[in-house]
Amino acid sequence: MPELPEVEALAEYLRRRAVGRRVDRLEVAAISALKTYDPAPTAAAGREVTDARRHGKFLDVVLGEDLHVVVHLARAGWLHYREAFGSSAPLRPGKGPVALRVRLDDGSGFDLTEAGTQKSLAVYLVADPATVPGVARLGPDALAADPATFAERIRSRKGQVKGVLTDQTVLAGVGNAYSDEILHAAKLSPFALTSRLTDEQIGALHDATRDVLTDAVSRSVGQRAAELKGEKRSGLKVHARTGLPCPVCGDTVREVSFAETSLQYCPTCQTGGKPLADRRLSRLVR
Ligand SMILES: [Zn+2]
Repeated sequence: MPELPEVEALAEYLRRRAVGRRVDRLEVAAISALKTYDPAPTAAAGREVTDARRHGKFLDVVLGEDLHVVVHLARAGWLHYREAFGSSAPLRPGKGPVALRVRLDDGSGFDLTEAGTQKSLAVYLVADPATVPGVARLGPDALAADPATFAERIRSRKGQVKGVLTDQTVLAGVGNAYSDEILHAAKLSPFALTSRLTDEQIGALHDATRDVLTDAVSRSVGQRAAELKGEKRSGLKVHARTGLPCPVCGDTVREVSFAETSLQYCPTCQTGGKPLADRRLSRLVR
């Protein structure tokens, strides 16, 4: 799932490549992806792309201050920039992975695609991005929050730090992958309770959040949008690295599985060398 660094890189790419161009046509192929009906997609035609912004994990393509294409890429969505489209024929609804296509006046443009059968990519055509429910609920940006705001937000929610850090209403932008990386850098167990974190631990968590996200943004920005996905994986130390050595201490990266997802961590760096209970694994052993 694209998180803050990937979405920031997509916005940066669009700022360089699409701002100043006019929209020829906005075509919707996956009707279910479009969550709004007024204004209609035809309202985008003739509009100039004036900016591209990020709100948490949402991408906001600005077509003048009173028209925004706000996108949540969900689990398997992505944005592919095309220098040219093979055909000028409109997209046929329900065919292929392309959910939405934006054609610009220089013949280039971009496709929003979604792989897999579980379709949850969401597009909102709105006058004001704050009217998108997911955007309205966002907490302060995880990368922009100063130490005091960050500490206040983390302490505002009681629970396991992994869940609190990925709660978009607490802080916006961090998901499953980067929370694994941030907790590893902060040397915190994903199951540590926010109510028991010391000031030093919260400070380390803030530093790790800033460092991990800043590093990931700089690695992602400048890459061609189509290549960003591969780039994201190469910089990770624990996420999606179960069974591989921790690059910091050499211990084996371990995993805890849940129904829909899993987390990875290093026991030596994060949990005093003790493996965390994995309910799925212990069920198998028993
Ligand atoms: Zn380690």
